[in-house]
Amino acid sequence: MHELSIATSIVDIAWEQARQQGGGRVTGVTLRIGRLSCVHEDALRSSFDLVTEGTPLAGASLAVIEVPVRIWCGPCNAEFELPGIQRFACPACGHLSGDIRAGRELDLESIQIAPDQIAADTPEAKQPEPS
Ligand SMILES: [Zn+2]
Repeated sequence: MHELSIATSIVDIAWEQARQQGGGRVTGVTLRIGRLSCVHEDALRSSFDLVTEGTPLAGASLAVIEVPVRIWCGPCNAEFELPGIQRFACPACGHLSGDIRAGRELDLESIQIAPDQIAADTPEAKQPEPS
């Protein structure tokens, strides 16, 4: 259940940022999660809902940007995106590489904040998912 501790720190950071920007309600959080970060998106979402319940972040949406794995291939002298995480081999020449350049991310990309007074008498409006 390490998703729960991740969700807790996300909420802490988002709340802190909202306070630094003069308060307001956090309506959405966007994360960048690498495919190698071992974070289960579903587990993270339910943890996020659990952790935000009863806090100023309650009802905030959680958006996840999945970051593909990229390795550096010496022989090709280039960086490649891997189609999966089973095999760390260059898609062009097959050279095995442990030089991972991306895919371990677990970053808070952005947070969306609504001013308190607007949130006060506006019913919970679900934001349409960007496609
Ligand atoms: Zn190569």
